[in-house]
Amino acid sequence: MATTKKRDYYEVLGVGRNASEEEVKRAYRKLAVKFHPDKNPDDPHAEEKFKELGEAYDVLMDPEKRAAYDRFGHAAFAPGGIGFGGFHDPFDIFREVFSGSGFGGGIFETFFGGAGVRTEDRHRGSDLRYDMEITLEEAAFGVEKEIEIEKLGTCDKCDGTGAEPGSRTITCPTCGGRGQVISSRAFFQVSQTCPRCRGAGETIEKPCRQCHGEGRVEKLSRVKLKIPAGIPEGSRLRSSRNGEAGIRGGPAGDLYVVIHLKEHKIFHREGDNLYCEVPIPFSVAALGGEVDIPTLEGKAHLKVPAGTQSGQLFKLRGKGIQNIDGRDRGDLLARLIVEVPSRLNAEQRRKLEEFAALCGDENTPLRKSFFERAKEFFK
Ligand SMILES: [Zn+2]
Ligand SMILES: [Zn+2]
Repeated sequence: MATTKKRDYYEVLGVGRNASEEEVKRAYRKLAVKFHPDKNPDDPHAEEKFKELGEAYDVLMDPEKRAAYDRFGHAAFAPGGIGFGGFHDPFDIFREVFSGSGFGGGIFETFFGGAGVRTEDRHRGSDLRYDMEITLEEAAFGVEKEIEIEKLGTCDKCDGTGAEPGSRTITCPTCGGRGQVISSRAFFQVSQTCPRCRGAGETIEKPCRQCHGEGRVEKLSRVKLKIPAGIPEGSRLRSSRNGEAGIRGGPAGDLYVVIHLKEHKIFHREGDNLYCEVPIPFSVAALGGEVDIPTLEGKAHLKVPAGTQSGQLFKLRGKGIQNIDGRDRGDLLARLIVEVPSRLNAEQRRKLEEFAALCGDENTPLRKSFFERAKEFFK
């Protein structure tokens, strides 16, 4: 709809017209997390805002698109405009930005939520994101994995309490147990969460020396993951409570594992279907015969009819990937590539010439019909 009034991309991201790439990224990152539809299930406009952000990011990060936008505004991308069609999927952009490619390359990013965001639970640990590459076979049949991650885990010394062993819990001396402190500013009195006990009203006499009273320390943790059969590329699995440990025994965050598929040397996946290209000798293509087709579960046989052309696609029903819901299975589509023999010896050459001499138009109907259609161009 060309008539919809669109907001200025700089305004959408809240950056100036001279903003650097870094500033655009930073602004996008902040807002995209805020408006991600997963985080705003009750806001019907969240998805729209999220898409708008993706679009703005897409344009302002691409020097060519940005230059066009600066000159022509939204008209640069209108149908029939100066030739920039379409935008990237906002969810793809989000995945890309948050997979670390543009942000220091770490596999961990603080993902959704996190301490400080959920006001009802300030002691909750942050959610974490982990990008995992698996093979096509693992995705097809499911797999159990154990990963090692460096994260804030429960402190062993104090068992997450933050107190030095033997130390007592005392009423917070700063707020006297109220959890709030009152400070005076000019004529006003302002009530604030107590900075010492963070609102708990209690504090520990001696903080644990290992974690400095936080109840959590940076350490290597092992997490077991069960990846279901048929998992699609880009899926996000949630491993509940395997994110960062909470502060002083607060609830742990979640771990989000994003699945990526490694390139396969034979098969190409599209949804639940698999594709592969199989070269066959040209004599088999001409005479017909049987060829072996690789599948994820071993060899399958395919009957090739006489007169098969190069590039023809044959379907092996049910030899694709199990659908993630477990009900259906995709197909394997084998594209037969006719291989023309090379490095002929003298005898082969002679026989082929003999064969060629016996061939007429009726053996190559495609060629015949092509030349009939193209007649006028050969004048
Ligand atoms: Zn400790
Ligand atoms: Zn206090």
